[in-house]
Amino acid sequence: MKISDIFQTKKTVFSLEVFPPKKTSKIDTIYDTIERLSDLNPDFISVTYGAGGTGTGSLTAKIASDLKNTYHIEPLAHLTAIHTTRQQATDILTELRENGIENVLALRGDLHPELPIPGDFKYASDLTQFITDFGGFDICGACYPEGHPESDNLISDVTNTRPKIEAGATHLISQLFFDNNDFYAFLDRAKLAGITVPIEAGIMPVINKAQIERMVSTCGASLPRKFAHMVSRYEHDPEALFDAGIAYAVDQIIDLIASGVDGIHLYTMNNPRVAHLIYTRIRKVLEASNKA
Ligand code: FAD
Repeated sequence: MKISDIFQTKKTVFSLEVFPPKKTSKIDTIYDTIERLSDLNPDFISVTYGAGGTGTGSLTAKIASDLKNTYHIEPLAHLTAIHTTRQQATDILTELRENGIENVLALRGDLHPELPIPGDFKYASDLTQFITDFGGFDICGACYPEGHPESDNLISDVTNTRPKIEAGATHLISQLFFDNNDFYAFLDRAKLAGITVPIEAGIMPVINKAQIERMVSTCGASLPRKFAHMVSRYEHDPEALFDAGIAYAVDQIIDLIASGVDGIHLYTMNNPRVAHLIYTRIRKVLEASNKA
């Protein structure tokens, strides 16, 4: 099923993200995770892609295929552009198509200093256009409530998001954020820029201090005062920080759903226990939204 069709029937879409296990881990660990995530009845599960297909990249198509054909959950296969050639993109899209996968998240990808840049795709919008021309896929794009770290300012950031939609993206998933006001301000800018496709809010439950430091350094998310207080108060008490982190994510999600968000995309970090704890606290709210 195409994800754009899911947005036609649901007021609030609920989706999850998983990543392929590291090369040193057993592939089966991801299937235990998916098995447990399937209880959450997600509308789709996205599968990340390693830069240029390195590391775990080649597993993305396999996991997406198993999601579709074994677990009967709609997959969204991520694909990155900057270190990928047209031929590699063709090969991956062919494999996805042969496995019945209909949805791709087209990304530029982060720049990897050790990998060559073939120059076939510069931006995510170039890959999006390539996939549109290839045919047969619903395409999703990324967006950044606080602006992409390389963007000059918030206006050029949203202006640079438009070409993805003009090239064929039918929905956007946001980078994680901890202050819903950043997301609402982004929605206002997107509307002013003429972006009308559904935009899902990406939510990352933060449950330990190392994760917070990693998130801030890799994606530049700012930490609102409420969040910073929580971390400084409980950083030396892992159990308290775990509970507080779950409560913080639940609070964010309920506010977003009550405000009419198009969807919640939960970055599960392959942790089904956390996803379950959140889901049990938002299930009724999600159901009420989709009944209304
Ligand atoms: P783009 O949209 O191409 O934007 C990159 C930069 O170029 C931005 O600063 C933008 O403003 C600018 N830009 C875009 N178009 C133009 C233009 N026409 N002219 C001038 N400037 C322009 N990374 C992975 O490696 N694997 C994954 O699986 C993965 N999944 C992700 C999922 C989500 C939901 C998100 C939000 C990010 C994900 N990332 C992933 C990270 C992503 O690859 C990086 O954030 C990357 O730096 C930007 O990707 P993009 O697709 O947003 O790029």
